[in-house]
Amino acid sequence: MSRVWNFSAGPAALPEEVLRQAAEEMLDWHGAGMGVMEMSHRGKEFISIAEQAEADLRELLAVPADYRVLFMQGGAIAENAIIPLNLLGERDTADYVLTGSWSVKSAKEAARYGKVNLAASAEASGWTSVPVLESWQLSADPAYLFVCTNETIGGVEYAADPDLARIGRAEVPVVADMSSHILSRVIDVSRYGLIFGGAQKNIGPAGLTIVIVREDLLGRASPHCPTAFDYKTVAEAGSMYNTPPTYAIYIAGLVFQWLKRQGGVAAMEARNIAKARLLYDYLDGSDFYENRIDPVCRSRMNVPFFLKNEALNDAFLTGAREAGLLQLKGHKSVGGMRASIYNAMPIEGVAALVDYLKTFAARHG
Ligand code: PMP
Repeated sequence: MSRVWNFSAGPAALPEEVLRQAAEEMLDWHGAGMGVMEMSHRGKEFISIAEQAEADLRELLAVPADYRVLFMQGGAIAENAIIPLNLLGERDTADYVLTGSWSVKSAKEAARYGKVNLAASAEASGWTSVPVLESWQLSADPAYLFVCTNETIGGVEYAADPDLARIGRAEVPVVADMSSHILSRVIDVSRYGLIFGGAQKNIGPAGLTIVIVREDLLGRASPHCPTAFDYKTVAEAGSMYNTPPTYAIYIAGLVFQWLKRQGGVAAMEARNIAKARLLYDYLDGSDFYENRIDPVCRSRMNVPFFLKNEALNDAFLTGAREAGLLQLKGHKSVGGMRASIYNAMPIEGVAALVDYLKTFAARHG
């Protein structure tokens, strides 16, 4: 067996330890005589798996007691509709901060359900920055303010949790799409009303969506909200109103335990800083490659970069594949290259990439 360095933006590389454990437990989980995929979601074995996963996630992110953790389905794109359907309530407006493809898509979807006020946009920068908090123009009484704290395609990440108290608007719940950097750094959950993300980047298999929501935001769903997507219904049923994505929850649980063995989120953050620094420092020092994102908001998870001579793109990707470095092609809307280096990518993988970048530049520079 030979495993490659997989730089996919998602579904993405998982920790090898987790995959091995899942393989070992595939036919018989802890003496149950069956695998996790075959278990009733209402049986005591699976309930214990789901409860442990939730407890570990709460511990890793220090989720306060007045927040509910929901295991849902539909991915982050479905949440773009589920969020306004749940949170608009009697208000008619939600505020959105646009920082790239994903927040733009979220705002477009929300506009099907209510009024969207664009509180700020980084479009004028070519989506290379995050508008400074002090420039955000919130509406008079928004149901919530939406941000995407890591733009997977553009490679733009908020440097800190947005603190609306700094602009005197602490009463507005912040809703954050953290799909592509959840658990990669320490966050203050209490700064948010709702955090959500698809699992398939930093957590586990596609099919599971994590929602962390403050309790006072439950119970506002529109009558048109599908029952299975009503946060209050899902919370009251312990994420088992409908059959949850059981296997994805199990793998996510194994990843949470792996994260705890790595020292938790703060230790992971330190590694992610070191990984990102290794790659950005090399790119910045090179006259062969470039990253165009404002250095204060460069993503530690998704690193887009360009060859200055784009005629060499195909040769670059072919050579990378031969060197065991896969999925480096940039998103089609941006072009160039992108290396996604989530928690499961060890620094050795990033070092292998930097070695290849150097070798390729020396051969073609
Ligand atoms: N938001 C962000 C930040 C993402 O990276 C993605 C997936 N690339 C999505 C939303 C959409 O996720 P899904 O396809 O799981 O709905």
